[in-house]
Amino acid sequence: MNKHILAFRVIDFRDRFPKPFDTFTQALEALQNPKVYMPECGGIICYLKNRQEIIIPRSFFIESTPRFKDEQEAKNWLIERNQVLESSPGKSEVLAIGFDCLDFTRPLTEQVEEALLQTDDEIVGEDKNEKVAKITAQYLDEKISDIIHEEGKRMRHYTKETDDKVGALTCAKCHKKVTHDSDCYEFDEFISISHHCGYTSIFEDKAKLTLDLCQRCFKEVCGEYMKLNGKPTTATEIDD
Ligand SMILES: [Zn+2]
Repeated sequence: MNKHILAFRVIDFRDRFPKPFDTFTQALEALQNPKVYMPECGGIICYLKNRQEIIIPRSFFIESTPRFKDEQEAKNWLIERNQVLESSPGKSEVLAIGFDCLDFTRPLTEQVEEALLQTDDEIVGEDKNEKVAKITAQYLDEKISDIIHEEGKRMRHYTKETDDKVGALTCAKCHKKVTHDSDCYEFDEFISISHHCGYTSIFEDKAKLTLDLCQRCFKEVCGEYMKLNGKPTTATEIDD
């Protein structure tokens, strides 16, 4: 599981699950419990350790089938229903037999359009949990990577804003200074290290260590030690 994930929360119609679950599959299984009232209206939220949350797309675990297979079927059903409604004295009561959102006093073409959007929703069967969990994990990995990337950028802005109002980054080695406005590409490629030292640090107990390097200086200094896409590389293999 992605290390940034804290927990999962199930939201059901009657909010029966105030306690979080450790994994997505546990959350999904909770929603599949036959005691859950209208599971197809439920939702699953992923909480991240940085306090942000990601709503899992319901389409991952809710299967929707159109109520009507085509326009003709919808039209036939509506005509029949509308006849019942028009001949009935207590129209509002009979309305309950159909989709109450489909107002029978509106033009039939509009009713048909709306009826075609109606779906019968059902929570996936447990046999699909493994597949659903896999899709969800992929989705979360992508979302989290975006969030972490954005957060990294924001943090760099923030660190610099404290000592430089324009949010500039200065390379510690070549002293090149860039702002996001002057060269956003170079700015985004700056590599900033911020590390809180512990008690056993060789630098200083509980010290805060920071370093900003432009991408070229980083390559010069760390190129031969760094990994690129997880693979060791040498500085000479990287093009400028
Ligand atoms: Zn530099």
